[in-house]
Amino acid sequence: MRHLAIIGSGPAGYYTAEAAQKQWGDDVRVDIFDRLPVPYGLIRTGVAPDHQSIKGVSQRYEKTALSENVRFVGNVTVGQDISVEELQELYDAVIFATGAPNDRPLDIPGEELANVFGSAAFVGWYNGHPNFATLDPDLTGRNAIIVGMGNVALDVARILSKTQAEFAGSDIVVHALEVLQTSKLEKITILGRRGPHQIAMTPKELGELGLLENACPRVDADDLPEEGEDAMLEPGQRKSVGHLRSFAAIPEGSRADYGKEVAFQFFGVPERIVGNGKVEALEVAETELRDGKLVATGKVETIPCDLLVSCIGYRTSPIPGVPFDQRAGRFANDEGRILPGLYCVGWARRGPSGTIGTNRPDGFSTIDKIEQDYDSGVLGSIRKEGRPGFDRLAEARNLDVVTFRDWKKIEEAEEKAAREGAPREKFVRVEEMIRARG
Ligand code: NAP
Repeated sequence: MRHLAIIGSGPAGYYTAEAAQKQWGDDVRVDIFDRLPVPYGLIRTGVAPDHQSIKGVSQRYEKTALSENVRFVGNVTVGQDISVEELQELYDAVIFATGAPNDRPLDIPGEELANVFGSAAFVGWYNGHPNFATLDPDLTGRNAIIVGMGNVALDVARILSKTQAEFAGSDIVVHALEVLQTSKLEKITILGRRGPHQIAMTPKELGELGLLENACPRVDADDLPEEGEDAMLEPGQRKSVGHLRSFAAIPEGSRADYGKEVAFQFFGVPERIVGNGKVEALEVAETELRDGKLVATGKVETIPCDLLVSCIGYRTSPIPGVPFDQRAGRFANDEGRILPGLYCVGWARRGPSGTIGTNRPDGFSTIDKIEQDYDSGVLGSIRKEGRPGFDRLAEARNLDVVTFRDWKKIEEAEEKAAREGAPREKFVRVEEMIRARG
């Protein structure tokens, strides 16, 4: 029998468990650890609450979770309740599927001011992640700036722009809905350090900005390259730029029908956040691309800003003793191998890129490597104890392990508590989750 421990129950974790099942059938036991009592990681607390169809993929993970040889071990923090070394003594292979939960900092003065947030915190707040449920952003100012031109920036812009009615059918948590109701925001600027051809937004997600009830996207036509130059872009990017062109073509007259504006500002790098205790403005250094390289022109503009959310990517949490690539912000690894017996998948392996589905081949390829390491003897010839060993340790330490069956009770309680038309009302505190298990 093979014994695997996967740390993290998000998409990367469950796809890897699925791959292990496919590879070894009944000859494997997989324990999936999570520090939260609830599974699914980014599906639950990263994917936007109004993108329910994407969240539907959790049904696939549930199928994996309910099979005999896969077990959810919730409410257990690796590094605190059990060490990586202890896991390695119990399991043949330990796989980090811990994602990239920390914000990359802007590293500019003023980042500590109130109402300045990274996207991990801000997205975690409106998605009810226990670590960020008490964030309490102030949306009563007129101007918000979102730094970065990726899909997370789009998620944040859309959530800040939607009317209450547009949240129907979403699972946005009630504390966020209440704060959004107080919003006086009029202008949401999405700031990019490069130009329209370099945005990291995908067409479907960018197109959604043009469908908002009370917010109108704005692109200055002068910022767009000659239309003919779009031909050299790959098709998806060309489509995205097409959306920017259609936003630039919105007649000025029709803008008055909207209460909010989502304005794209290109070629600007945040230089300093200004404010007395709380953010009041952002100093932005103008940039240009010379031979593909970003250079500052020397001009600096000060933009009013009452709320700043930086959406510039994420970093994996390092673990003492586990090799880490500081520059890339993920575990140092060779195609998923960190050290003999230690592996990583998903964002912890390749950094924060790609879609949810990208994690599937990633998980399968890591399981391939583990199979090779079994074959070549890297994982030793004696199989480890696995589950029974962990259960003994959990009992000795009095760990309050939350099982998948417990999660189903928590899920049921969340579904029962849902507002009309919503799929669930999430518990946002760990104690509430544990209590709901009964
Ligand atoms: P991302 O796609 O990598 O975009 C990050 C953005 O931040 C880029 O525009 C980047 O500009 C900019 N940036 C980086 N460092 C900066 C700095 N110091 N100052 C100013 N700007 C900076 O990251 P993301 O938006 O966090 O998304 C992460 C991954 O999740 C992506 O693969 C994304 O597609 C995916 N995702 C998908 C969905 C969806 O499919 N619905 C939703 C959310 C996220 P440069 O290009 O100049 O570096």
